[in-house]
Amino acid sequence: MDLSNGTPLVAIPGPSILPDRVRTAMARPMPNIYEGYLLDMSYRILERLPSIARTSGHVSIIQSNGHGAWQSAISNTLVPGDKVLALESGRFAIIWAEYAAMAGVDTEVLPGDARSAVDVAALQARLEADVDGDITAIFTVQTDTATSVRNDIPAIRAAIDAAGHDALLMVDCIASMGCERFEMDNWGVDITVAASQKGLMCPPGLGFVWVSEKAFEMHPRVTHRVGYVDWARRLEPKAYYEIFAGTPPVPNLHALDEALSMIEEEGGLDAVWARHEALANGVRAAVEAWSTPDGIGFNITDPAHRSNAVTTIDTGEIDAVRLRGICEAQAGVTLGVGLIGDRERSFRIGHMGYLNPPMILGTLATIEAALTALAAPMGSSGVAAAAESIGAALRG
Ligand SMILES: *Cc1c(COP(=O)(O)O)cnc(C)c1O
Repeated sequence: MDLSNGTPLVAIPGPSILPDRVRTAMARPMPNIYEGYLLDMSYRILERLPSIARTSGHVSIIQSNGHGAWQSAISNTLVPGDKVLALESGRFAIIWAEYAAMAGVDTEVLPGDARSAVDVAALQARLEADVDGDITAIFTVQTDTATSVRNDIPAIRAAIDAAGHDALLMVDCIASMGCERFEMDNWGVDITVAASQKGLMCPPGLGFVWVSEKAFEMHPRVTHRVGYVDWARRLEPKAYYEIFAGTPPVPNLHALDEALSMIEEEGGLDAVWARHEALANGVRAAVEAWSTPDGIGFNITDPAHRSNAVTTIDTGEIDAVRLRGICEAQAGVTLGVGLIGDRERSFRIGHMGYLNPPMILGTLATIEAALTALAAPMGSSGVAAAAESIGAALRG
């Protein structure tokens, strides 16, 4: 039976659901791009963005998705013959390193698996073995969107410091910015990359690169500059058009200005992070309750490393493609495809950005209904467990 006629919910880990305020802001007519309010708004955005990554450093906005932000980080710091150590904890640090390899950078993967966070002891040992200091930069992700692991960035920094290594620490926060606590300066991160369409409640189209002094000092050694992303212009513009390398991405800037205001109105990032944690706890309570040896289970084994932005759920003997199919076609909820291993054996719930209890409880209840439709094995009611968890958060 098809029950999907109502507001559809997309619960994939990005792009996330847009607030109406953000969508409306994007519909404004095109303004003068040489003078007037657009310039003021752009400077206002640039002033507010460092606090989103908790840094006092520079920030660059690229008209791109997250891959473009990766490219900016690579093209402005690394040269052929440099070496990147990519910390495997899923897919994304590895793909980022593949982009570096295309620029002639040597890459090495510190092996990890799809169920756990980066092994910081192995990282420290690898860096201690690098007695000649061959490793120029370390690529890692805060949250890997495929596995839903959350890496401990301060622990990674501590391992680098304990090894006495001076490689740049570059962190992909594309999935986690605006969802998970992240303190670029306090945590000693040299470059942070993010994108607009996940926790930041905007459409795809903007990439962000936050740059520490130490990383900026690497820039002059890059002799083959990539003009479009070059920090000399984008971070130290002599004219407005240099910030965006030409025509600004006007609708995306309107969206971002509105989204940043919404974050401030909610009480700032601490309040936003607390909301994400409370809702993610609800998701985890549901998964825990549904869990059975043959059916549902967490992909990430250690509870301390489960992300507040996305949850990857193993489905055991349950066909995850059928489960997602029922949810989407018959009930109006779109879930994320499994990105690790066999697509039939896992799915993902995005819980990032503009999200409140009815949205996430509706998603969880629909999954439970689909599990019921499939006569799938289920421990107990995930909906009841999630409501109890979120209820406790509402009580304060
Ligand atoms: C989504 C995502 C990317 C890729 O971002 P695009 O905007 O699709 O280029 C990279 N890394 C992580 C951790 C992500 O979640």
